[in-house]
Amino acid sequence: MTEGADSGPRLVWREAEVLAVVAETASARSITLRVPDWPGHAAGQHVDVRLTADDGYQAQRSYSIASPPEQADIVLTVERVEDGEVSSYLTEETRPGDRLELRGPIGGYFTWTGTLPGPLQLVGGGSGIVPLMAMLRHRANERTRPAARLLSSWRTRDAIIYRDELERLASDDPQLAVVHTLTRESPPGWSGPRGRIDADMLRAFAYAPEQQPRLYVCGPTPFVEAVADALVQLGHAPECIKTERFGPTGDR
Ligand SMILES: Cc1cc2nc3c(=O)[nH]c(=O)nc-3n(C[C@H](O)[C@H](O)[C@H](O)COP(=O)(O)OP(=O)(O)OC[C@H]3O[C@@H](n4cnc5c(N)ncnc54)[C@H](O)[C@@H]3O)c2cc1C
Repeated sequence: MTEGADSGPRLVWREAEVLAVVAETASARSITLRVPDWPGHAAGQHVDVRLTADDGYQAQRSYSIASPPEQADIVLTVERVEDGEVSSYLTEETRPGDRLELRGPIGGYFTWTGTLPGPLQLVGGGSGIVPLMAMLRHRANERTRPAARLLSSWRTRDAIIYRDELERLASDDPQLAVVHTLTRESPPGWSGPRGRIDADMLRAFAYAPEQQPRLYVCGPTPFVEAVADALVQLGHAPECIKTERFGPTGDR
């Protein structure tokens, strides 16, 4: 479960133009950006976004790329966190035509390409689904695809990001299973699991160690640690588990 070094030969700040802003949920927005001279990215990588106020004050945060490598314009999906300096701006103030500074792509470790063998097991908590979605979108563009499963955890049904698209991807593809669990509510008609992802839930919905899956776990730090521990408890080799923690980032 070692975190690898960042890759990226030309990590320069670029000025990107906002092409579109789409509401995914009440608090999450997908922002499409045209980035001049974008060098391309791998599914799972992220960028740093830097905001500069009129008085010169700057704030910088990391955001995963949600779009697949095949797409020229990149998409970020940002979930507003309460009192969040950068996420509030990106989700509430950003409009098409705005310009944002970003650099990347960053991260060579938490990436997946369609050429990697073995079933793909993705486990996400909240906005941790973003880099996993880039992997599933990339996989959908591949002619031959390994089987894949996504297990994701949300507080409520309405908080689920990409819900319709995931449903469409899974209904078109018998090799893809998507399961969401809800931790804070049990809405009428909900047929999926309830509660946090633990060893029992992973046993029920994730590939077993004997199937030798490639495991990617992403979300808030306590979520990632709990899931990685449960996977090891089930017998998965720690070196097969790739993790990305969405803890606070930036220049504090
Ligand atoms: C590699 C990487 C990729 C990331 N990708 C994404 C992504 O695709 N989409 C996305 O929405 N976020 C992503 N994040 C998180 C993002 O970088 C910011 O931490 C988040 O947007 C909060 O920044 P902020 O300036 O709004 O909040 P801040 O002003 O920094 O913090 C406000 C309050 O929220 C708390 N807080 C900060 N970050 C988080 C968090 N992630 N979750 C819960 N509480 C938090 C702080 O402790 C503080 O109390 C990623 C983080 C990393 C490290």
